[in-house]
Amino acid sequence: MYVYIAIGSNLGDRLENIKSAIAELKNVSGITVEKISSIIETAPAGGPPQGKYLNGVIKIKTEILPRALLNILQNIEHRLGRKRKIKNGPRTIDLDMLLYGDSSINEPGLSVPHPRMLEREFVMQPLLEIESGIMEEIGKIKVK
Ligand code: ADP
Ligand code: MG
Repeated sequence: MYVYIAIGSNLGDRLENIKSAIAELKNVSGITVEKISSIIETAPAGGPPQGKYLNGVIKIKTEILPRALLNILQNIEHRLGRKRKIKNGPRTIDLDMLLYGDSSINEPGLSVPHPRMLEREFVMQPLLEIESGIMEEIGKIKVK
C-alpha cells in the first residue's frame, strides 16, 4: 500500500525534527520511504499566535494496517518530544496520515483521507510536487 504522510514542525530545531521523524520511519521494519518532498516554510493556520512551520510530505510503502500505522506515527511524535495538547498549537513534530491507498476510513480518532488536506496549501503543494497525478487517485476513493 502507498501511504502519504504530512510532516510539520514549528518548535525547536524544525529541520532536525523533520529529519529525525523521517529517519525513525525509515527504521521501522515494514516501512519503505519512497519519496520525500521539498520542505517549505509556511505561516501557522489557526490556533494561538505561534512561529512559522516547516512542512513536507513523504510517500511510504507498507502493509502495516492503518490503526497500527497511526500508532507508530504517534509514538514517533512522543519520542521527538511532542507534549502540548492545544488544538492547532505549536508542536515539535506533527505526523498526519493523508492517504492510505484508496481507503476511506471514518473511525473515532482516524479519518482518511485527512479531512482538511485539500484546503491546506502547506499539504497540497508538497504532495503535488512528489505525486503530480494524485488528484486523479483521490477522485477514485469511494467515500464511506
Ligand atoms: P492536528 O494534526 O489536527 O493538528 P493532532 O496531531 O493533535 O492534531 O491530532 C489529533 C488527533 O487526530 C489524533 O489524536 C488522531 O487520533 C486524530 N486523527 C484523525 N485522523 C488522523 C489522520 N488521518 N492522521 C493523523 N491523526 C489523525
Ligand atoms: Mg496531527
